[in-house]
Amino acid sequence: MRRVSPRSSDRSRQRAAASRNASESVISTQATLELVRAILCDVGPRDGLQNEPGVLAPELRAGLVNRLAAAGLPRVEAASFVDPTRVPAMAGAEEVADGIRRRPGTEYSGLVLNGRGYERLLATPLDRVNCTLAATESFNRRNGNASLEEATARVVAILERSEKPTTVTISAAFGCPFEGRVDPERVLELASRLHEADEIVLADTIGVATPTAVRSLTERVTALGRPVGGHFHNTRNTGYANALAALEAGATVLDASVGGLGGCPFAPRATGNIATEDLVYLLQGEGIETGVDLEALISVAAWLEELLGRELPGQLYRAGIAA
Ligand code: ZN
Repeated sequence: MRRVSPRSSDRSRQRAAASRNASESVISTQATLELVRAILCDVGPRDGLQNEPGVLAPELRAGLVNRLAAAGLPRVEAASFVDPTRVPAMAGAEEVADGIRRRPGTEYSGLVLNGRGYERLLATPLDRVNCTLAATESFNRRNGNASLEEATARVVAILERSEKPTTVTISAAFGCPFEGRVDPERVLELASRLHEADEIVLADTIGVATPTAVRSLTERVTALGRPVGGHFHNTRNTGYANALAALEAGATVLDASVGGLGGCPFAPRATGNIATEDLVYLLQGEGIETGVDLEALISVAAWLEELLGRELPGQLYRAGIAA
C-alpha cells in the first residue's frame, strides 16, 4: 500500500525543482513522479449512489465497482453496511461484495457505523473498514442515531478489534448542517481519541470549507502521526481547490466519486463529491501520480450517465481531455 508520502513542503520543493530541471534531467523527473502520489478512493458506489432517488440493484452497483477497479482506481468504496430501512439505496451490501471481481492493485472498502455493520463487513471479502462518525453532536444523532460520545465509543470498539485495515472518516469536519462552522480544536481532539485508526479522513460533508481551513486541519491531524485523507463535496465549488490544499498539507488519500455523484440523505442540500475524473485530470496536470487510466474512467462516467438517465455534475467526461 502506498501510504507514506513526503510532507507538503518537501513535495512542493521537489515539484518546483523538477520543473526547473525538466528539460535537462530525466532522472529527477522520474524520482519526483515516484514520490508524488495520491491514493484515490472512488466512493461513487457508496456515497454517490446512497442519495440517488432510484435504488440500483446490487448487481449494477457491483458492476460499477468492477468498472472503477478496471480503470485503475487504487481503492473503491463498494458498499455501506448500514440499516437498509434507514438508507434503502444501500440495501444488499453483501450481494454487492459478492459481485466484485477482484482486481490486483485495488483495495475494496465498506462503510460501517457500528459493531453490527462491522460484523456484516467482516463476513464479506472486502479489505478495509471505513468507520464513520461526525464531528458534531447533532449530525451524529441524525446520521447514526447516537450521541457524539456513543458514536466515538462505537468506533473505538471497532478499531480495537478490527481484523482488517481501518479508516475513520470524520464527517462534518469543517461545517455541520445543524450546528454551523465546526471548531478545528474539536476535530483535532476527536482525531486524537481515534489513535488506533490506520488512517483518518477529514470530510467536508456539506461542502463549506475553503483551502486555508483544509490545509490547517490536515497539517494538524497529520501531526498526530497517522496517514490523513480528504473527502470533499463540491457544493460551493471549492472541492477541487480543497483537495489540492489537502495534498499540499500532507494528505495521502483523497475520496472522490465518478461523475461527481453524491450527497447525504441526512445532510440537507448537500451535493455530490468532487468528480474522480476531474480530480485525476487536475492531479495529472500537476505531476501527481494516481495510477488511474483517465480515458477508462471517463467511459465509466458516460456509462453511469446513461444508466441513471441524467447528466452528472462532473465536467471532464463532457468536455473531453484534449483542448
Ligand atoms: Zn460524503
